[in-house]
Amino acid sequence: MAARKVLRGARWPGDIAVEHGLISKIGSITPDPGDEVIACDGAVITAGLVNTHHHLFQWLTRGGGDGCDLLSWLRKLYPIWVRISVEDVAAAATVGLAELAMSGATTVADHHYIVPHGDDSVFDAIALAARKVGVRLHLSRGSMDVGESAGGLPPDDVVEGIDAILASTEAVTARLHDGDRVSVVIAPASTLCVSPQLMVESANLARKLGLRMHTHLAETIDMEQDCVDRFGRRSVDVLEELGWIDNDVWFAHVIHLNASEIVRLGAAGTGIAHCPSSNGRLGAGLCPVRDFLDAGAPVGLGVDGSASSEGGTLFPEIKMALYFARLLSGPSAMSPTQALELATVGGARCLGRPDLGRLEVGAPADIAVWPADDIEDIEDPIAGLVLGPTREVRHLLVGGDEVVIDGEVQGIDLRAAHTELARRARAFWD
Ligand code: ZN
Repeated sequence: MAARKVLRGARWPGDIAVEHGLISKIGSITPDPGDEVIACDGAVITAGLVNTHHHLFQWLTRGGGDGCDLLSWLRKLYPIWVRISVEDVAAAATVGLAELAMSGATTVADHHYIVPHGDDSVFDAIALAARKVGVRLHLSRGSMDVGESAGGLPPDDVVEGIDAILASTEAVTARLHDGDRVSVVIAPASTLCVSPQLMVESANLARKLGLRMHTHLAETIDMEQDCVDRFGRRSVDVLEELGWIDNDVWFAHVIHLNASEIVRLGAAGTGIAHCPSSNGRLGAGLCPVRDFLDAGAPVGLGVDGSASSEGGTLFPEIKMALYFARLLSGPSAMSPTQALELATVGGARCLGRPDLGRLEVGAPADIAVWPADDIEDIEDPIAGLVLGPTREVRHLLVGGDEVVIDGEVQGIDLRAAHTELARRARAFWD
């Protein structure tokens, strides 16, 4: 039998024992000679973080389109994204997932909608990167079927036909979906570049296969206006008619809704992926997170793609979310514990994994161990963690497996991966 792992010596919440991939005890744990001990002296331990929205491939164009709003940023970057290869995406996914692991993420949702020349082995490449790094992956099979010539935003040569998209989505699901370490999600990109038919057929396929659904919604005022111009109604009305307002769906951003629309999403149990740094970088607006929580909607955090949030790390988004909530709704809008809950259990609810994001006996041992010597003078360890300086994990476990130990990603050579990715990214500077 595998040895019991004991994370020993943490300031909060004490020792944690892990057996068979699950948390078996929390508190003061009597040593056993057979224990495998992971030293956590003085650390603060939380559940592993859940990233609910990302585009890993965008690391290749970090720094692109600075100063642009969303639509001009997309117009500037699409012609570059047309040129990326499966190998480029693999390099970006490897670095992006490893950096997320260093920032405490044990589960990552990647929304990937660039399929080079229709080659859907790009999804296998992202899944392989997640397996190497060791994090759980919600692999969103993204899609776009309305190019420039049909009134959409992307160049025609990055859109696919509906039949090809649906056939590929079924094949990717058959190849990669296990519902635990890799969960395939059906994810047309946004109303800017998909047809109503694709939205409806995607929803039908998702419900036939038992998969979750994801897309962008109301990220900017321009995006909302584009929806009104092309579909004659506001985005929530359009998506409701297409079968997309339900509890198996979570949307990215969701900034520019009115009060009754927020209530409708909350009543439906539709989730929100809040991406504060990206929203700030693009000047998109402030997501009314407090209102969504009050309406009963699951709310998680996302880093969004690394071309609109150059860090690509999740931990800083916790404090950013707290700041944004207080800027919009006042100082009592969000506590440090509530901000941490967005990054853990809230995100897990968005992804349909209510078993994750919990530091509880019986929960999967997805655990982030944070060095906390610099905040030992702060009485409330969670306030110290959330409001204090940014940091990387000392250790990270996923299902009890050791993904980061003593600040080192175990599954890959992160420095070499960065070098390779930088080489590939520079090729797009021309
Ligand atoms: Zn996005």
